[in-house]
Amino acid sequence: MEPLNQFLEWVKKSDNIVFFGGAGVSTESGIPDFRSVDGLYNQQYDYPPETILSHTFYMRNKPEFYRFYRNKMLCLDAKPNAAHKKLAELEAAGKLKAVITQNIDGLHQAAGSKEVLELHGSVHRNYCQKCGKLFDAAYILNSQNIPLCDACGGDIKPDVVLYEEGLDNDTMQKAVRYISQADILIIGGTSLAVYPAAGLIDYYRGSKLALINKSATPMDGRADLRIEGKIGEVFSQIVLK
Ligand code: NAD
Repeated sequence: MEPLNQFLEWVKKSDNIVFFGGAGVSTESGIPDFRSVDGLYNQQYDYPPETILSHTFYMRNKPEFYRFYRNKMLCLDAKPNAAHKKLAELEAAGKLKAVITQNIDGLHQAAGSKEVLELHGSVHRNYCQKCGKLFDAAYILNSQNIPLCDACGGDIKPDVVLYEEGLDNDTMQKAVRYISQADILIIGGTSLAVYPAAGLIDYYRGSKLALINKSATPMDGRADLRIEGKIGEVFSQIVLK
């Protein structure tokens, strides 16, 4: 059977699907990923994005961090695409247990998904490092230089996991639980190059691992089924009654 038809058949029959995705899930919403040819790693900055988005850089050069962050990471006008929407529909239909995402854009929740595990945090939560007050993404976007708390004047930090920072333990454990109990694991729109998130694939014990990506990944050999294509286009073909 053609990989796409096989995939649609699996999805039709299962009520225990788990999705694990990355930046490629949001490119069809107009948010650039990191590693595609038009991704952020192939655009020119004074420093490479992984340097700017590291804990060390944040501590040493907050104004430059925020210049990049406001320009490139805060895409507040982006709307959910067909992949986000179909995942929300699959959950509502009782077929999908959880979305595990490396994305920080909040588009799965905007599409209506309820069980979303954000491994790398969210641009929509920002907190004062001094008093803990929470701020939305618009506050960061509309601020100048380093965003400051309007209550105590402390520096505000996004609730985003920067390079060199650890992932939230509870979120990681929940992700491991969902993946290890899944019937179908769909992995999509991720280069599977960022650890420890990419290591989650090791916890899957089933025999229906579907990998949907525009380009090859180092884990292609692990997939039971591979579809090379755009994730929004592939998910559009899933028909729910
Ligand atoms: P990545 O940039 O390393 O890889 C993206 C992968 O998706 C590539 O293999 C690319 O070929 C594929 N892809 C791009 N568009 C696609 C599409 N329409 N359909 C199918 N595949 C597509 O992204 P990553 O693996 O998620 O790792 C990058 C890190 O950067 C993550 O930790 C994430 O937190 C962060 N990030 C997040 C966002 C966001 O929130 N939208 C955007 C950029 C980066």
